[in-house]
Amino acid sequence: MTNALDTTPSTIDRIRHDLVGLKMPRALEALDHIVRRLEQGEIAALEAMDILLSEELTLRENSRIKTALRMGRLATIKTLAGFDFSFQPSLDRDRIFTLAQLGFVARCEVVHLLGPPGTGKSHLAIALAVEAVKAGKSVYFCTLAELIAALARAEREGRLQERIRFFCRPALLVVDEIGYLPVVHGGGNLFFQLVNARYEKGAMILTSNRGFAEWGEVFGDPVVATALLDRLLHHAVVVQIEGSSYRLRQHAELMPEHLRSKASITPPTLNPPSRPRGRPPKNGHPSAIP
Ligand code: ADP
Ligand code: MG
Repeated sequence: MTNALDTTPSTIDRIRHDLVGLKMPRALEALDHIVRRLEQGEIAALEAMDILLSEELTLRENSRIKTALRMGRLATIKTLAGFDFSFQPSLDRDRIFTLAQLGFVARCEVVHLLGPPGTGKSHLAIALAVEAVKAGKSVYFCTLAELIAALARAEREGRLQERIRFFCRPALLVVDEIGYLPVVHGGGNLFFQLVNARYEKGAMILTSNRGFAEWGEVFGDPVVATALLDRLLHHAVVVQIEGSSYRLRQHAELMPEHLRSKASITPPTLNPPSRPRGRPPKNGHPSAIP
């Protein structure tokens, strides 16, 4: 009868040899410690196998996630756990956590995160993209300016269709910062070609500090803006953040009120007041903002 606790050197050597052959470096590293615990009766044989395999699997998962984040251009990692929902009471926490279940990715929908600067739009977009990566979905992150620059370059080089196919590949494409920088001439048209190619085929998260009514101005072309919104609002989830900037949270009292208010998704008033609305800032002039 064989010894139930066969931890003889030859068996361990054979396991070590096999782990090298199977390219399981983390399991190899953990082996001696696991065997020691087994010999001391701390764990049973099945448990030892379980620990050995899960050590290796964790390493592989982590390196897969690291590679996917790098390929997806997610350099600064933000998480949902790192998001302080109490700072942004207008935001429905449950809604964000439902998005993190990634049904929208499977349904090829578009998530719009709207709000003034510093309200966590990029943070949430990245956090949702990280969740998608963890779930094994392919993801790509870029700003609108970067996306349009890449498409414009490809067009000049006669490789536009190839580039559009590249941006169609990820299951989730994040396009950050719509509305911050003016779109270069022809840029709206290039973006439309991509949006049209991904329409009902892949999910997107878009972030913007501008309401949809301002997209004509953002893209410098109301016809293109209408065509874009037609696709981008068809199967869409709109999350409006109506809070103040997290970046300026220590200086909130210095923020002029009109900058604290929402980026409205409803059309702007035709004759906006020339002065900031509401109470003037208590402490000094807006130009005192660092
Ligand atoms: P936006 O894209 O809306 O301009 P960001 O997402 O870039 O804003 O947020 C600005 C900074 O503040 C980032 O470092 C982000 O991680 C952080 N931040 C924003 N909102 C929150 C929050 N509610 N909890 C924790 N960090 C936040
Ligand atoms: Mg941002």
